[in-house]
Amino acid sequence: MKKKFETRAIREQAERSQHREHSVPVYLTSSFVFDSAEHGQALFAGDMEGNVYSRYSNPGTDEFIRKICLLEEAEDGIATSSGMAAVFASIVGLLKSDDHILVARSVFGSTHQILTQLLPRWNITHTYVDIGSPDSWEAEIRPETRMLFLETPSNPGLDLIDLEFAGNLSRKHNLILNVDNCFATPYLQQPGHYGADLIVHSATKFIDGQGRTIGGVVVGRKELIEELRFFARHTGPAMSPFNAWVLSKSLETLSVRMDRHCANALALARFMEEHPAVEWVKYPFLPSHPQHRLALRQMKQGGGILVFNFPGGFATARSFIDRLEMLSISSNLGDTRTIVTHPASTTHSKLTEEERLAVGITQGLVRISAGLEHIDDIISDVAQALDH
Ligand SMILES: *Cc1c(COP(=O)(O)O)cnc(C)c1O
Repeated sequence: MKKKFETRAIREQAERSQHREHSVPVYLTSSFVFDSAEHGQALFAGDMEGNVYSRYSNPGTDEFIRKICLLEEAEDGIATSSGMAAVFASIVGLLKSDDHILVARSVFGSTHQILTQLLPRWNITHTYVDIGSPDSWEAEIRPETRMLFLETPSNPGLDLIDLEFAGNLSRKHNLILNVDNCFATPYLQQPGHYGADLIVHSATKFIDGQGRTIGGVVVGRKELIEELRFFARHTGPAMSPFNAWVLSKSLETLSVRMDRHCANALALARFMEEHPAVEWVKYPFLPSHPQHRLALRQMKQGGGILVFNFPGGFATARSFIDRLEMLSISSNLGDTRTIVTHPASTTHSKLTEEERLAVGITQGLVRISAGLEHIDDIISDVAQALDH
């Protein structure tokens, strides 16, 4: 019988070294030695499998990639120094000049910058389509469209995209379906089951889960990953072997942490929904979320992030944030510590007001990444700040 996700995340480990270590070892070495000149030649020629140099591969980094592949049920992958390096590689490593990307509006801020400020230099163009009207997407597909890129749930709007729909559309038009699965993690949602060809993660967030490292990973179909591996080897966004070790260990506790993140986020969302100072709350597993049924269908739980809106705009959001005593004010998410962010003035400040409103980022919007503290303490801090 195939072992469950929780067990695989802990028990599956590549071969042990001759030291028979129980935990995953770390390999801090920039290069590897050859047995002979001939051996070196064979490794470089690709006639033989083996490690040469840690920009190409490293046993610890490979262990992390293998583990993500196992959890996403993907064929192969590459690990990168950050989530953005993963996003960038997954696009530029495959597309060429004159190609076009269909993008579900509401992508991570830096992804938006890559699409609008960098890719046009190489004449790779994109069209944003609205998450709320998937029926309009097909009409935007052109002969030169090669990829459909999306995030679900989106950051910070927490809008969902029907992955089954996206998978069918991509198959019909022969598009590479590329899904940023950062918010859900493979524990809550596996886009590969719906036909995603590539899945990218910022491992910085829930995969590390403890606010220590920056990292990224792309997994997916073998032939696409081969191209990405060539791109990564020669352009050099390699993940540090130390970070790979940290992240491999993190994966062993992913399910336990996500269960707590999700339970805390849901409880906090329910509390917020009842509070008179809050105009509205959005969380995928609240019945009030416009796509609640889709959330129940494609996600195991609602995730660790919730957003809510103050009718008073920036001034109210700001005074709420400044009155918090325990929660952290930061732009990160997916940490053990509950983090509060004002997207309009931080993570999404580079967008125009019009671009922000198109993805639901109002001046009164506050994002909370529910941490692993006791829910009573989280709610108590939020309550005292709201009551002011
Ligand atoms: C944070 C984030 C990224 C970027 O990852 P880094 O590790 O910060 O480079 C990409 N996509 C989403 C959805 C994110 O939240």
